[in-house]
Amino acid sequence: MGDVSLDDQDVPGPGAPAPTGAVAPAQRGGTRLDPWFGAYAQRTHGMRASEIRALFAVANRPEVVSLAGGMPYLEGLPLEVIADAIQRLVTTRGTTVLQYGSGQGDEGLREQIVEVMRLESIDAHPDDVVVTTGSQQALDLVTRIFIDPGDVIVAEAPSYVGALGVFRAYQADVVHVPIDEHGLVPEALDEALVRLAQQGRRVKLLYTVPNFHNPAGVSISLERRPQILEIARRHGVLVLEDNPYGLLGFDGEPLPAMRSMDDDGVLYLGSFSKTFAPGYRVGWVVAPHAVREKLVLASESAILCPSNASQLAISTYLTTCDWQGQIKDFRELYRERRDAMVGALAKYLPQASWTVPAGGFYTWVKLPEGLDAQSMLPRAVTNRVAYVPGTAFYADGAGADHMRLSFCFPTPERIREGVRRLATVVNGEADL
Ligand code: PMP
Repeated sequence: MGDVSLDDQDVPGPGAPAPTGAVAPAQRGGTRLDPWFGAYAQRTHGMRASEIRALFAVANRPEVVSLAGGMPYLEGLPLEVIADAIQRLVTTRGTTVLQYGSGQGDEGLREQIVEVMRLESIDAHPDDVVVTTGSQQALDLVTRIFIDPGDVIVAEAPSYVGALGVFRAYQADVVHVPIDEHGLVPEALDEALVRLAQQGRRVKLLYTVPNFHNPAGVSISLERRPQILEIARRHGVLVLEDNPYGLLGFDGEPLPAMRSMDDDGVLYLGSFSKTFAPGYRVGWVVAPHAVREKLVLASESAILCPSNASQLAISTYLTTCDWQGQIKDFRELYRERRDAMVGALAKYLPQASWTVPAGGFYTWVKLPEGLDAQSMLPRAVTNRVAYVPGTAFYADGAGADHMRLSFCFPTPERIREGVRRLATVVNGEADL
């Protein structure tokens, strides 16, 4: 398989304007092919078809270097060890593996999750943990239990596209707050919350990716973490800390999670997708007691229970493999790719600017004055390189002057070649 794939939830697009209610068949216009067009619930109106998805079908060809997707690189995993362990699991505990399980998640796995979280200084009890089908389902559950249409979610500018998709689906109003190289700016957060309070708006959540941000690549500094928590507490806003990349720092120890500094005001989301593999779709939420009960009820109504087969496979991986050693290997692998990416940017695109991530998968590139990453994309794909335009990461149409480049999947040589091709396109556009 080439380094050209793209994870679908990372591929948004502005799509068509939302329909405004039930329409008679004759009025269906461009949607004539769908006889149920007028029947969809209002909450689907914000669900957008991806304009760029068609382009990415082309981008998935092997000759295209995809700097677009957020797929972890799995070749280094000890596949045979994992296969043996899982086979043993089915042989010895098959009737549990194949059975329904607890809505909250397997207790043994929840105990292991508590151990994983200790690496980021979180002191939690297995009862505080709800296992989910990836942290994407956790985002859905949290939004489902907190958001009424029109409620405000404050989120970083830019924000993870998959979270914006969920927020839109529940008809939240996303208000973006600026970030800089030290992450979310506390003063800007405070100002936004004061302004929203003056406007009588109901702010329910602060959504943040504090470590190795998707897409911006920055982390919230240690100093700012308690400041942000204090501001959120003062304004009565729950913090949604989405942290799939926290253990993938390239230097030093992981920063303490915001949840480690505040038990009651933070909902913490974790995931095995980037530190092990996304295929089993296992993530989790840590929540204060009452919230946890609601999350379990919401999850039971959505999926009855998370997959036992997936949970026990992850649990077996954690007990039989050197998962911490594996994370160390991933960190080295991704560090080398980050270096290839920033080195190539400096060489080929010195007129742009970019973040230098200290971990994770992404760098956030600001294009030279006057260039539009979205309109440039077809030309880039023709030139055999793909990226995600910055507009994907804003709820309000901003971000056209940025692009997200991911360095997780392509090899260093492919990254360098991809950036070289990208520079040809950028320079061609700039000459116009
Ligand atoms: N949050 C962030 C910030 C992500 O980057 C991703 C994956 N792209 C997710 C959540 C979802 O991850 P998963 O459902 O695989 O755990």
